[in-house]
Amino acid sequence: GYRARSAYKLKQLDEAAGLFAPGDVVVDLGAAPGGWLQVAAEAVGDAGSVVGVDLQRIRSLDHDNVETIRGDMTEDGTADRLRDVVGAAGADAVVSDMAPNMTGEYSVDHARSIHLARQALGVARDLLSPGGDLVVKAFDGPDLADLRADMEESFEYVRSIRPDASRDSSSEVYLVAKGYLTAPVAAGD
Ligand code: SAM
Repeated sequence: GYRARSAYKLKQLDEAAGLFAPGDVVVDLGAAPGGWLQVAAEAVGDAGSVVGVDLQRIRSLDHDNVETIRGDMTEDGTADRLRDVVGAAGADAVVSDMAPNMTGEYSVDHARSIHLARQALGVARDLLSPGGDLVVKAFDGPDLADLRADMEESFEYVRSIRPDASRDSSSEVYLVAKGYLTAPVAAGD
């Protein structure tokens, strides 16, 4: 079984958008307790690898193709460690399920979730190979459109997907950006 029900969200996102192929290198941000790591590790197989990062320690998995880093993705040092583990060949996909500690105050939770999603976009721009994909979780709200527009500058296209498995939390949305472009599209093009 999976460590977290959220595993089914990533399965649905992969089915909808074709994120993973055997042999891929995947970066998973906000990876604890490890449900997404399990799904990604199965999808990329032994020829691929998955690197997970979280503030929390991640109990080791049965998969040999998974490495984990404990750290805060809002700190530069964590991105540096991640870059070292991924190596020069870069990543084929960056997926982020990072979520802030909820205050219950909608505007605060929204702003913090957008901030985390932007960290993931930064990691994607740093590590993705051309043609790579990015998935970020965000809570719906006024800053979502700007985030999406910024993602559109670096990818062929961006879709917004609400997996059935996240129906219970209605403000949660995943932006799925396909086809990383190393030369960004200028705004307005
Ligand atoms: N996808 C995971 C799974 O399937 O097991 C569940 C992820 S859970 C919804 C969100 C995670 O984001 C939490 O484990 C939290 O610690 C992590 N997180 C939040 N802020 C973070 C940050 N600044 N750096 C790293 N991880 C962070």
